[in-house]
Amino acid sequence: MKFQSKAVHAGDRKNPGSQIPVTTPIYTATSYFYDDIETVDKVFAHEIPGFAYSRYHNPTNEALEEQITALEGGAGTLATASGMAGIQIAVQSALTDRRKCILASNALYGASISLLHMVLEPFGIDINYVDISNTEATLQKIEKLQPGCVLMESISNPLLRVGEIDKIAEATKKVGGSLIVDNTFATPLLLRPLELGANIVVHSGTKFMSGHGDMLGGFVTCDTEHLDPVRTLSRVYGPVLGPFSAYLAMRGIKTFPLRMERQCQNAATVFEALKNHPRIGKVYYTGDPAHPDAAVINRLIPGELKGAMLSFEVKDAGREEIFAFLNRLEMIVAATSLGDVHTMTLYPAMSSHREVSPKQRERMGITDSLVRLSVGIEAVEDILDDLNQALQ
Ligand SMILES: *Cc1c(COP(=O)(O)O)cnc(C)c1O
Repeated sequence: MKFQSKAVHAGDRKNPGSQIPVTTPIYTATSYFYDDIETVDKVFAHEIPGFAYSRYHNPTNEALEEQITALEGGAGTLATASGMAGIQIAVQSALTDRRKCILASNALYGASISLLHMVLEPFGIDINYVDISNTEATLQKIEKLQPGCVLMESISNPLLRVGEIDKIAEATKKVGGSLIVDNTFATPLLLRPLELGANIVVHSGTKFMSGHGDMLGGFVTCDTEHLDPVRTLSRVYGPVLGPFSAYLAMRGIKTFPLRMERQCQNAATVFEALKNHPRIGKVYYTGDPAHPDAAVINRLIPGELKGAMLSFEVKDAGREEIFAFLNRLEMIVAATSLGDVHTMTLYPAMSSHREVSPKQRERMGITDSLVRLSVGIEAVEDILDDLNQALQ
């Protein structure tokens, strides 16, 4: 089946019986019993398949997990209560029997950096950073540090840099480590890191995959080796997604390929308009032929769809002018998050990079005039009209 068909069909209609619901219902039961206690014993012993307790397995979650595995590849998926819970499980499962050393991209999502420093470092895990879009520097550092795990994003936030996942995966494997890729920005429609040699893919399912701004969740999809540690950690921690959210995610994902196609097409049009706009300075976009990683992008994301995220600088604008611009927007939503059906803006200096000092932000290229745009599925004319009127 093609990607679009898998998104619609995978996971559903699993329960045998004469009346088969066309979509998977929301199973709210926390526990399950059987005709006799011997069967319960066999289920607990994993001798026969079956559900016992919702922290271990839930039919709604299982359908969603199957749907995601069908799209992302790999051996299986765990649905978690948030993207962050998914990243923590991924890192801990990767480091279970490996050197307690992480090499991370220096352009990670803010909460991922906090997770490394506030949660993992105090447990004695050594944290190191590298510019992941510099392949040579990354490969050298992998060889020198021999990290137990490498953590990167397929497309970084908010400057949209792309690293050579396949080469990084190969180098990581050579030193006995495992590669975790946060694929939230690229999504499996554009890029499937497991096919490029990554060991674990994590998602903020909250974003493009679910896509409607109505559920918080994470997905951890991994190879055979990591599936068992991921599931074991989850059974003990219990960071599982609730069945109502699992249902919303599954419903959202059925239209994800359609939405993503439209969002990417709209983003390409918005890029052309912003590039030539007199009030706009630098524009960051993965479909820009002049992108610093264009060769890598065209190799790893060869299709026409290049992503639905853009960042841009408003000329001669500081915090005050950006606030005025955001306040003038009428349709576009100025709220944290991304990937939703509605177009959204975010001001990194105020939100995702608020904790970073202004000097450090400037060095990273995240200036006070930078705005991030997540392009939605609206008519592109309306997105452009709103941007134009707000830019004045
Ligand atoms: C939002 C986001 C996360 C965190 O996901 P939550 O669902 O908010 O916990 C992690 N990585 C990236 C790239 C994100 O955009």
